[in-house]
This record gives sequence, structure tokens and C-alpha cells, in this order.
Amino acid sequence: MEHLILVRYGEVGLKGKNRRYFENKLMRRMEQALKGLPLRGIHRTYGRLYVTMDGEVEEALHRLSHVFGLVAASPAQSAALDLEEIKVAAVQNMQRAAAEGYTTFKVETRRPNKAFPIKSPEVNREVGAEILRQVPNLTVDVHSPEVTLRIEVREERAYIYWQELSGPGGLPLGVSGRSVLLLSGGIDSPVAGWMAMSRGLEIVPVYFHSFPFTSDRAQEKVIDLCRVLARYSGMIKLYVIPFTKIQTALREGGPEELQTIFIRRMMMRLAGGVAEKERAEALITGESLGQVASQTVSGLAATEAVVDLPVLRPLIGLDKQEIIKRAKELGTYDISIRPYDDCCTVFVPRHPEIHPNREAVAKKEAGLVTPELLEQAIAEAETLLITSD
Ligand code: ATP
Ligand code: MG
Repeated sequence: MEHLILVRYGEVGLKGKNRRYFENKLMRRMEQALKGLPLRGIHRTYGRLYVTMDGEVEEALHRLSHVFGLVAASPAQSAALDLEEIKVAAVQNMQRAAAEGYTTFKVETRRPNKAFPIKSPEVNREVGAEILRQVPNLTVDVHSPEVTLRIEVREERAYIYWQELSGPGGLPLGVSGRSVLLLSGGIDSPVAGWMAMSRGLEIVPVYFHSFPFTSDRAQEKVIDLCRVLARYSGMIKLYVIPFTKIQTALREGGPEELQTIFIRRMMMRLAGGVAEKERAEALITGESLGQVASQTVSGLAATEAVVDLPVLRPLIGLDKQEIIKRAKELGTYDISIRPYDDCCTVFVPRHPEIHPNREAVAKKEAGLVTPELLEQAIAEAETLLITSD
């Protein structure tokens, strides 16, 4: 039996001439998400996508609800452009709703196909009356119904549905290019990565690992964070870059108050190296203004001065409570608060420089870490392919 899922998308539809491109990307992302399930096809008509399946609709809906660009998905039934057929489908739908314990409903019809001779209010009345005749224990409530049965009368067929699963919205992954995400085990950077993805940016995460200062538990945390992000992106390629030698060199040769900023600059350079390998066009961090001493405007400036790529900071205007709220919704919060140190908390200076001067930083940093040491770190990077849990 063929099952139908009706997909609505928002922003993607608004993109004028680029619309086809966005729709194609979205359809490809949906196909990817549905891989391994009995998919028949994905079709489009103006403003809607139709997914047909041979089964496993629940799983398909779950996966689709993680595809960026998608606003909502509904299991639907289609009917010929004939009021009697529409009634049959509507009654079947409401029988299911009644079986699930719902008791009040209303019918809401849209009729983009003006060639269909019966106007929406009349369809509502006729179908509503038929449901009341055929399905026991249901009453109409036009103001706050438990179930809204929707009927869309389109060019070729009519579509009937009442359930709806929200998607994340935003833009299909990839339409904005590709970026490297500096992913620590903290609360912020996974949220920053998700926000970048929601604007269509693919991400390649890098994690700087300072074993034995930070344990392998810290790395497991980052892997688990990637598993959550992979629900939205499909397989993720994580770079784990050994950072111990660099960090040690910085600590032995440089003043304590500049350690944080030095570390950040090294991370930027290395992330830039990965970006080159991965043909990524931007770096993403979880920084936001004022959260810690290094996250002042001059701190951020001294940090990004060492790379040519744009450094995007999706969290820049969010306060910690808002970030935590988003991390909880995303499902990364509980992973992030597991109590393992990251490399920055191991060596936090007692009196960090809050307003570092770029030139002064560069001067004091010179010679501490050789280009060879940086190249070696990239050459020794491990890449892990991570899928969703
Ligand atoms: P987070 O919750 O992301 O760790 P934070 O507020 O703790 O954020 P910092 O530790 O100061 O911030 O780090 C700022 C940003 O630098 C992080 O959001 C992340 O993008 C990057 N970063 C820090 N440590 C690492 C690391 N070990 N590996 C990769 N990126 C890192
Ligand atoms: Mg951190």
C-alpha cells in the first residue's frame, strides 16, 4: 500500500529565482534522510512536497522532522477531485482520530484549485456533517477543536490530513556552503554548530585534544555531541587534533595572562588548516560577547587576526540562559555538563588579559610554536566518521 507524507517548507519557498535550487537541495536532503526506508519518490507541486512510501511512515516522519528547510510533515491521504471521495477519506481519518480518543474537531479546507466547483466553506460543512453521521463520539468545536482536519484541494487531487510533525525550518543544509566548527565539549559550541547548520551551512567539526591534560572521556563527550548534530546532518566527519605539544610550548614560553588568547589563536590557525583541506569557507565558534575574559571585542579580534577566513559566531548576542535553553531543546545539554575538563579550563590564567592588543600579542607569541609543530598537529589529526544515535 502506498503511504503519503505531505511536506511544507517555509523560507525555502520565499527565495525568488533561487527557489528551484533550494527545493532541489531540500529534496536531496530528504532523500538522504530517508535512505534505507522504502521510499517510492518525492514529488513537488507549487509550495508543497509529496513523499510516497511503501511503509515505515513513523520512522520516515521522525527523520524528516530533522531536515533543515522543512517546516512540517503530515501523514496524508489523497482523494480524487470529487466531494464523495473526499468525504470517504475524511471519515477514515477521523475514525483514526476518534480511536485515539479525540472527541472534538473542525474541518478546514483550502482550495487553491479554483476549478473545483465547491467553495471551501461548503466543503467544510458537507464533510463535517458526513463525519458527524459516520463517526460516533465526535462533536464539532470551531473555536478550539482537539483535531483540525485539513483538506487541500489541489490541481490533480485533494489531500486530507490532521496530524503534523514540526521540522526545524531554516535552510537546507549546504545551500550556504561549508564551514569548520570549533567544537569543544562545552555547552556553547554545539548550539553554535546547530545554528550555523540551520542557516544552510554544512559543518566539519574539529576538536583539540590535550591528552593527558584532558582525558579520553572529554573526547567521548565531543563524539556524543556529534551524534546529536548528526541527527540533523547525516554522517559527520570529526577531526580530533592533538594539541598537547602546542599547549605545552605555549605554557613554557609565554606569559600566563595571555595563555587563553594564545591557545585561541593556535586553534584558529589549525582550524584554518582543516578548512583548507576540507574546502570550507568559514570558521564557526561558540563564543559570545562577555562570557569569559577572552570574549571581549579586543579578545575576539586578537583571536581571529591569525586567519583569513570569516569567523562566524552565531551565539554572539545570546546570553547564557538562552544558550542553555537551546542546548536543552537540542539535546546536547546533558552531554555538555558531564564533568570532564576541557583544555581551556585546565590552564585558565588567574588574571587573564581582558583587552589584549593584537600587535603585542603577536610579538609575545612569536617563536613559541613553530610552523612545523602546527603542521605536525594537522598531519596527526584523527578523523572519525560519526552517525546519529
Ligand atoms: P563552549 O561551551 O563551546 O566550550 P565556552 O564558553 O566554554 O564555550 P571557551 O572554552 O572560552 O568557551 O571557548 C570558546 C570557543 O572556542 C568554543 O565555543 C569553541 O568554539 C572553541 N573551543 C574551545 N576549546 C576547544 C576545543 N578543545 N576544541 C575545539 N574548539 C574549542
Ligand atoms: Mg569551553
